[in-house]
Amino acid sequence: MLVWIDIAVPTPAHSPVGGVLTYRSPLGVQAGQLVRVPLGKREVLGVVWAIHDQAPTQISAESLREVTGVLDGLSPLHDTWRQLVQFSAQYYQRALGEVALSALPPQLRELSNEQLVRRLKKQNTERAVHTTPGPALSQEQSTVLAQMASGTGPFLLFGSTGSGKTEVYLKAVERMLATDPQAQALLMVPEINLTPQLEERVRARFGSEAVVSMHSGMTPAQRLKGWLAAHAGHARIVLGTRMAIFASMPHLKLIVVDEEHDPSYKQQEGARYSARDLAVYRGKLQNAQVLLASATPSLESWHLSRPADAEGLNGGRYQRLLMPSRIGTALLPKVRRVDMNKQPRRTVLSAPLVAAIQERVERGEQCMLLLNRRGYAPVLHCADCGWKSECKHCSAFRVFHKIDRTLRCHHCGLTERVPRACPECGNADIAPIGRGTEQLEEHLGELLAHVLRPDGTPVRIARIDADSTRLKGALESQLAQVHSGEVDVLVGTQMIAKGHDFRRITLVAAVNPDTALFSSDFRAPERLFALLMQAAGRAGRDATQSATSEMWVQTFHPQHTLFEALKKHDYPAFAASELTERTAADLPPISHQALLRADARTQETAQGLLNAAREALQAQLSADPSTADLVPQVNVYPAVPMSMQRVADVERAQMLLESPSRMALQKMLWHLHGVLHQVRSQPEHKGVIRWLVDVDPQTI
Ligand code: ADP
Ligand code: ZN
Ligand code: ZN
Repeated sequence: MLVWIDIAVPTPAHSPVGGVLTYRSPLGVQAGQLVRVPLGKREVLGVVWAIHDQAPTQISAESLREVTGVLDGLSPLHDTWRQLVQFSAQYYQRALGEVALSALPPQLRELSNEQLVRRLKKQNTERAVHTTPGPALSQEQSTVLAQMASGTGPFLLFGSTGSGKTEVYLKAVERMLATDPQAQALLMVPEINLTPQLEERVRARFGSEAVVSMHSGMTPAQRLKGWLAAHAGHARIVLGTRMAIFASMPHLKLIVVDEEHDPSYKQQEGARYSARDLAVYRGKLQNAQVLLASATPSLESWHLSRPADAEGLNGGRYQRLLMPSRIGTALLPKVRRVDMNKQPRRTVLSAPLVAAIQERVERGEQCMLLLNRRGYAPVLHCADCGWKSECKHCSAFRVFHKIDRTLRCHHCGLTERVPRACPECGNADIAPIGRGTEQLEEHLGELLAHVLRPDGTPVRIARIDADSTRLKGALESQLAQVHSGEVDVLVGTQMIAKGHDFRRITLVAAVNPDTALFSSDFRAPERLFALLMQAAGRAGRDATQSATSEMWVQTFHPQHTLFEALKKHDYPAFAASELTERTAADLPPISHQALLRADARTQETAQGLLNAAREALQAQLSADPSTADLVPQVNVYPAVPMSMQRVADVERAQMLLESPSRMALQKMLWHLHGVLHQVRSQPEHKGVIRWLVDVDPQTI
């Protein structure tokens, strides 16, 4: 019998949303099965999306091509998996086939049927769970777990750093595994490399066999192996980064999103999905519990979990769970603000901070200094003619790296040796302005040169940032040095503030956090607050030292509400003040946004496409009575240059769409998609290199 089937194949990025191709198949197939089909001159992997027993009407049945192979060793992908992919493609405005295929391990595309069958045979074994009991739960942990047992969620667990959130995840998994012999759990983390301890803890608790990891640092073979184990239901726990949200897990019963506020849950290329938001959607599809957790929740999740008012109205959809106390007697560090207005001009590290660091080092304790800029200095400058180390391809300065005496553009990668003299006027006296982590490390070395550790040896300073960890394994070995106590003072970018369980750090300092207070991106303060709270959480994790642990902030705005809230470790106060501002300005989470971006050789061309699309969209919608009511519901702003306007000689422009209704915004984007295809094909927009849509963008 001949059937006609719709197959998701890897089609180009901007083919019509939801697009599948129709093929004929002489072979029996089921929805969700993987097949090989011809596409152009190639043979590609595809996913069977739908099966028809009648020939399609628009196309002549004879012209359809035939499926060439079925990967029948592999059970079909679950309906809910296909629904998740379909929703993601629609919501984030990408082609279905692109999303479907990029959600599968790349090696599946290369293996022959025989190779696949061999792989499957090799690991076709049940993987036993060996649960080791955890500690007796604290009162707060018990309460939260009881709330989870009696509620449906989604839940937002708001718990201080060190309040035992991880223990709650493990217990929730344990309970689920004990009650359902097939159940699977998905544990999502922002970045596995930065939190090796969590992986160890999960493996230690449930036995290594039951757990698979999924993240981009794995080899294709490892990824396939883990994917197959999850797909077969053998892997009971999947621990992964954002990509793991698409793991095939037929018996999924629990999804945990750790550090749910972390921006790395948002994919920044291709389908720009938010794994955190998809977790909530997937939970609903598969009837799995969803637990989002953070010490500094995203304002979106905080708003969605707002309690109902006195009349029981206007509450959010999420249920908020609270764990305010740290485990044991560990206290949160004392926050100390240094008013930089009162320090001598050009002070990098204030005298009281340096004295505090010295005292700690002499007692054998560790300190951590945060500066969100790598390199030695963000720009080189000639005082005679005003030359600055601009990148010729980007609207950015090249950063001075003293270690190898280079000027490097952090956007396009352009790297050159530092000139001996000013390239414009020949002045030999060119100087760095501002400072980065390299310079901070050097400066600190000078300030602490005379300081000795308790054993009489000189102080040891180390730096961890994207430069110091470029080589494979470098980050792990540097972290190990911190853990073993070889390092006294650690200097680094936000990389070091995330998640590490440094037991002996008793002082954390933010050297220059002010820039985020006045950023053009309205989310910058939210990110800064999360970063500082998280950094503060690094200090005093060991109860015996927590009483004296401190978080220092050097700032020109010590009275700023953000620092006031930080001082009290008061996320709810910070969130309330931010939400008031966001409400007044109609910003997310009160409204919903999408960005349309265009890239071209000139800014005019890039903006030209966006503005033409905007006009065509509004004309088209207004002309049709069935869509005219959409126009006033969605604000479509004129095109503007992006804040990083030029990267690698490409000019970038963006257009913001904003609406109080997510539904209206989605409808608008759907119409926009069609309009863009028409407009794009007009000759005056030939110079456009690419365009893309970012729904719920994280940076504006
Ligand atoms: P969080 O994830 O909230 O930062 P963790 O779960 O890592 O907190 O807990 C902080 C520390 O407290 C860890 O060392 C953990 O082993 C310990 N811990 C957590 N829960 C308990 C408990 N119920 N009894 C004893 N120690 C606990
Ligand atoms: Zn000059
Ligand atoms: Zn550049």
